[in-house]
Amino acid sequence: MKRLDWASLDAVGRKAALARPTQRTEGRVVDVVREIFEDVRARGGQAVTDWSLKLDKAAPRRIAITPDSVNEARNALAPADTRSLRIAAENVRVFHQMTKPADTPFVETTPGVKSRLVWRPIGAAGLYVPGGSAPLFSSLLMLAIPAGVAGVRERVAVTPPAKNGGVHPAMILAASEARLDALWLIGGAQAIAALTFGVELEDGVIPACDKLFGPGNAYVAEAKRYASSLPGGPSQDMPAGPSELLVIADGSADPEIAAADLLSQAEHDADAQVILVSDSTATINAILEEVEAQLETLPRAEIARASLAEARIVKVRDMEAACEVANLYGPEHLAIQTEDADELVEQIACAGAVFVGRWAAETLGDYAAGPSHVLPTDGGARTLGGITTSSFMTTMSVQTVTEAGAAVLGPVAARLARLEGLEAHARAADLRSPE
Ligand code: NAD
Repeated sequence: MKRLDWASLDAVGRKAALARPTQRTEGRVVDVVREIFEDVRARGGQAVTDWSLKLDKAAPRRIAITPDSVNEARNALAPADTRSLRIAAENVRVFHQMTKPADTPFVETTPGVKSRLVWRPIGAAGLYVPGGSAPLFSSLLMLAIPAGVAGVRERVAVTPPAKNGGVHPAMILAASEARLDALWLIGGAQAIAALTFGVELEDGVIPACDKLFGPGNAYVAEAKRYASSLPGGPSQDMPAGPSELLVIADGSADPEIAAADLLSQAEHDADAQVILVSDSTATINAILEEVEAQLETLPRAEIARASLAEARIVKVRDMEAACEVANLYGPEHLAIQTEDADELVEQIACAGAVFVGRWAAETLGDYAAGPSHVLPTDGGARTLGGITTSSFMTTMSVQTVTEAGAAVLGPVAARLARLEGLEAHARAADLRSPE
């Protein structure tokens, strides 16, 4: 771990101290993704099948979500697992229903000229659910449920096959909770290419999607980036790379809790980013002691240690400086474990999700609190939020004008059009205005 004293660093040093590791999209990843895309563009479904067999040792499969497949999945899980999944799904649904954006009322800028913004769902959403190292069925809930609440007509979910070529029963239950009728077992860049071009496979057709969603490894992230750079290609949600947590703790923080949160992040993978910011050296030392103690019994201790080796411990003078660190970094997850946690939120400018106070564990948000856990990493939080229903929707303005409104605004628009040298524009306005 790197211990830093914020006050002793200049602006350049501060920026460097919070820099993310250099992107893992080295040339090889870019080249492989391009090769897969060109192949799928040329050979369609056959290319998707060939790449799936090569990389994941299984041909693409469509898993129908039917009462039979759901029953079978339910029987394979403990009843408490099924119940927990249902509670999580319900909370995610309720949160997104209650936060779905509403059409605005009409705004009359000139008498007789009224406009409003209305929201429309996108047509087809491609949902990537990571599954290389672990079946992240929680990510399926966090993508497919908001998309459903938004009213997306076609939700196409893809996830890599498990090592045995099959799918984890919880993934089937999650798909059922999200009211999907199918789940495609395809992973990596070949799955993203299938969602980009639309392909015909042995089990059915994958449609070309309008927007691609979901986290994934370097191949998936690069594939989404590449897809969205293609002329007429789908857009993408956000860069979602290795996970990040920044904890702000003051003297009132419980070291056991703060340490547990830091470890919950560090166990993701060696690239996971962990930062602790505190104004109290005693608190820092107590938390680090706790981290060591808890590591002793952690099954994924090796991964957590690798991540913690790169962790940063930032000693600040006060909570204002702590917020400055958080705002400069723009973390995916921010936990505030301080006396005045609620007030501190007001000073936070950017983070994917903020967990306020000792009871708000990131883990609760990761699985079951309600908001989506698909959040921007790599500082994306400076300009992007996490997944919400609006991620699956677009706005359009609707403008209505009465004859009286045109009489007032027509000459204004015509003048401005002629000022820009656009005579046809001006005449179209003139036609609506009195002589
Ligand atoms: P994944 O599903 O993203 O990737 C697996 C696929 O990668 C495979 O199906 C395979 O086709 C492809 N692949 C693997 N090696 C390849 C190679 N050499 N050449 C071409 N393709 C190859 O699953 P994963 O690997 O476990 O990665 C999941 C990632 O998602 C992790 O980094 C995790 O931290 C991240 N994640 C981020 C968030 C977030 O919100 N930011 C949430 C969950 C997961």
